Amino acid sequence: MKYYIWALGCAMNLSDAERIASVFEDAGHTQMKSESEADIIIVVACSVRQHAIDRIYGKARAWQKRKQNGNLVTILSGCVLDKDKATMNKFFDLIFDINNVSKLAEFLNSSPLIYHSELDSESIQKKLDSGSRPGMTIKEDFFNIHPKRKSSFSAYIPISTGCNNFCTYCAVPYTRGREVSRPMKEIVSEVRSLVSAGYKEITLLGQNVNSYDSDNSEQITNNKLANGSSSVIPAQAGIQSDKKDSGQARMTNAFVELIKRIDKIPGIYRVYFYSNHPKDFSDKLIETIPKTEHFPHYIHIPLQSGSDKILKAMNRHYTQKNYFSLVNKIKKTISEVAITTDIIVGFPGETDEDFAQTKRVVREVGFDMIYIGKFSPRSGTRAVKMEDDVPQKVKEKRWQEITDLLKKHLEKENKKYVGMVLKVLIDAEKKGKYYGRTDNYKVVEIDKKSISTILSRAEGSHHSNKKQTSLLGQFADVEITDSTAWMLKGRII
Ligand code: SF4
Repeated sequence: MKYYIWALGCAMNLSDAERIASVFEDAGHTQMKSESEADIIIVVACSVRQHAIDRIYGKARAWQKRKQNGNLVTILSGCVLDKDKATMNKFFDLIFDINNVSKLAEFLNSSPLIYHSELDSESIQKKLDSGSRPGMTIKEDFFNIHPKRKSSFSAYIPISTGCNNFCTYCAVPYTRGREVSRPMKEIVSEVRSLVSAGYKEITLLGQNVNSYDSDNSEQITNNKLANGSSSVIPAQAGIQSDKKDSGQARMTNAFVELIKRIDKIPGIYRVYFYSNHPKDFSDKLIETIPKTEHFPHYIHIPLQSGSDKILKAMNRHYTQKNYFSLVNKIKKTISEVAITTDIIVGFPGETDEDFAQTKRVVREVGFDMIYIGKFSPRSGTRAVKMEDDVPQKVKEKRWQEITDLLKKHLEKENKKYVGMVLKVLIDAEKKGKYYGRTDNYKVVEIDKKSISTILSRAEGSHHSNKKQTSLLGQFADVEITDSTAWMLKGRII
């Protein structure tokens, strides 16, 4: 059978899609590039914004006709809130919890029913929910699936899944459950095998990588995953405990230990980690990054809002002062660091004064990129009970104001790279043009002529008996010749 995966949202969903693909390949199915060619469509949903859910509804309605003709099966997974599950039920043959991917494999192997649309979604769901393999929690099973990687040079590795933080606007703790970390040994071994297979870029993923805690992979049981209560860690940004017996210190040390162990793996590669939480970003981590060889000077540290009142309403557990203190430590310790962030505009109760505080942080930090979201209430989260009192027009205006501030800053900032030679990993080829990213994650458009020269030089080389037709997945030294707010331009030297 032919299948197609439509993954929306964050890198974690893209990584999950690779695990789902692996399950389908093992069951003998073939991945297609477009939904029109597929007999089975799997949607990996994102619940962060209503817009993503609306797109899924739109598509699911359009698929109904093909389903009625009996030649399409639709499956939904990813971040799906219970309320959405109830309404999506009529459009999808199966909705399964992403943590149950491994059991979906058993199901595909044992039951051909799924291919004939004679599905009883409820009984399948019961079967999938009925427990994991002996000796393993459901989430350990999930980590043990070997993903079918889309790229041959860039890979995502989940180091934890779920979240304990309960930010009031976020659905993740409800859709993915509590945080469970993957054993350190497994992660290090996966990085090692990717590096020896020639991977150049690895991204360690978790909803909050800073609270990675290798110990808890054994401590947490299925029961706790299903029913666990909120365990928000009451720490303040930039103020980390060093006490050996503190759980917070153990977690801090675990992530630092993980990056140190990964860094010892020999090879030419770079490693990013994502996402961070300001309240858990430790001094030890800041001090460790510049001492590594493979971790670039690039940090994504979500701000969400610059107003203490709004941060409290968001349940973020830090203040503007904490955030400044953290960023100052990062800038002081990690040379030439690039800092990117996430901001939500129009959160309930956000006044002009609150928004002015956000703009203040944006101006003072000078971010290298900002991913801006306009608040939209997600049912099932705590923010849905708050009055969505910022009009859409005001949200749009605030979105534009932040974008303008960023653009103005980057137009000036990116000029400093002109004339420099930067290491770039070439990661995309579109319409005859090559693009890549620097270590600090700036997009670079590479001059076509310089690429042809390199390719013909490689072809004519006595050392090469293989014709090189693409530079995708290769590191190159690129001289930056021009810049805009959103991109650098350069030529390979
Ligand atoms: S830290 Fe907050 S925003 Fe991030 S996944 Fe957890 S609850 Fe959601």
